[in-house]
Amino acid sequence: MTMIRTRFAPSPTGYLHIGGARTALYSWLHTRRHGGRFVLRIEDTDRERSTPEAVNAILEGMAWLGLDYDEGPFYQTERYDRYREHLQTLLDSGQAYYCYCTKDRLERLRTEQQARKEKPRYDGRCRDLDGPPSEDVADEPVIRFRTPLEGHVVVEDAIRGKVQFLNSELDDLVIARGDGSPTYNFTVVVDDLEMGVTDVIRGDDHLNNTPRQIHLYQALGVEPPRFAHVPMILGEDGKRLSKRHGSVSVLQYRDEGYLPEALLNYLVRLGWSHGDQEVFGVEELIQLFDINDVNHSASTFNPSKLQWLNQQHIMRAAPNHIARHLGPFLAERGVDPAEGPSLEAVVRTQQERAKTLVEMADNSLFFYRRPEAYEEKAARKNFKEGTAEILEHCQHLFAGLPSWDAESIHGVVTEAAEAFDVKMGKVAQPIRVAVSGGAVSPPIDATLELLGREESVARLSAAVEWVRENVG
Ligand code: GLU
Repeated sequence: MTMIRTRFAPSPTGYLHIGGARTALYSWLHTRRHGGRFVLRIEDTDRERSTPEAVNAILEGMAWLGLDYDEGPFYQTERYDRYREHLQTLLDSGQAYYCYCTKDRLERLRTEQQARKEKPRYDGRCRDLDGPPSEDVADEPVIRFRTPLEGHVVVEDAIRGKVQFLNSELDDLVIARGDGSPTYNFTVVVDDLEMGVTDVIRGDDHLNNTPRQIHLYQALGVEPPRFAHVPMILGEDGKRLSKRHGSVSVLQYRDEGYLPEALLNYLVRLGWSHGDQEVFGVEELIQLFDINDVNHSASTFNPSKLQWLNQQHIMRAAPNHIARHLGPFLAERGVDPAEGPSLEAVVRTQQERAKTLVEMADNSLFFYRRPEAYEEKAARKNFKEGTAEILEHCQHLFAGLPSWDAESIHGVVTEAAEAFDVKMGKVAQPIRVAVSGGAVSPPIDATLELLGREESVARLSAAVEWVRENVG
């Protein structure tokens, strides 16, 4: 079998969003599974709508997701001479022809056809001319592809199965505009054949283009690639997924604290499954993913499931991996993780409880800086009359501990609870508020151990003062 070569071919007219990222992922997994090569091609021929910012956002999105490519990025705007050469081949062999029809004529034709309740299509006036016709001649002729008038084309789709198109339904496609610029269906075919693409995996909004592209391959004397058209993604209201449903740039998920592998896991499940397994690692996906198993009906985007998966991946990941992703969130919040407890150790205490890295960062700030104020509700609930004495007692016991570890810290909490004849929570909770500023933190012994003795004692002492001043 020849080596598999796939490509991702985004148009840089917007960001890399959920749908595009899933298409890229499916191509990437298919390639990696078969030890092939993955090509990135930027389809930037629409010069008005393509922007360098969008190109950068696509590259950055792919890099963040870890969808690495083996070749490219190739830019279509740098390949016009390649398209011109193939256009000439088709003109020379008579499989393409100049069409001189004016916009007016085509407009009239369409109106007449619609009035007769016919499907609008080019009537082939210029198909067999030797030169420009005598009337209705456009200044700049377009180039049309001579589509066979009879017969049919079959698309053997890996997801849809056989899809048949009648040639009589296909127009003589414009492959180059009046200014000589090639059109989408033509550039894609030239690129895919020159880039040796064996498997085209793309959104099913392109399925109707495929029979035309198959004709073009045949006219250029090349075997068409295999095709897989991935069904669309719907929002929870059943409408095509859009910004309204949260289909934003994948980078927004990064900024909201999602792990790239969680998003990949979520994306792959939008249209593919493996028994009832939900959580997949990337390496596992490379082993298991099969493009032939992709569901042929549309799937629905569900943000709460994405969040659940993120939590699952946060729980399972190696602490140093999470630490690497968490670092920038702390930096953004003005904290330098080098100046405080080991970030990896902090992650270990937080892994079980965070749904996103944003949440983890917010809940970990206190490890690196003293709380500026106590959360009002937490303080009201936990700083009561008598609390200052309990905290002070603990402060002294902590200061005198022969060794600073979770077990000894736990011993102090137990001892204080006995001494004051209160439940453990009445000791642990005020300590928690004292050191973290709020009522939620990892287990108190692990928290204090990480914070260090000096810092813990200092925070308790500050809380004792605060309670004396504000509560009595
Ligand atoms: N550039 C096209 C798009 O972004 C994709 C073309 C293709 O995959 O064949 O929709």
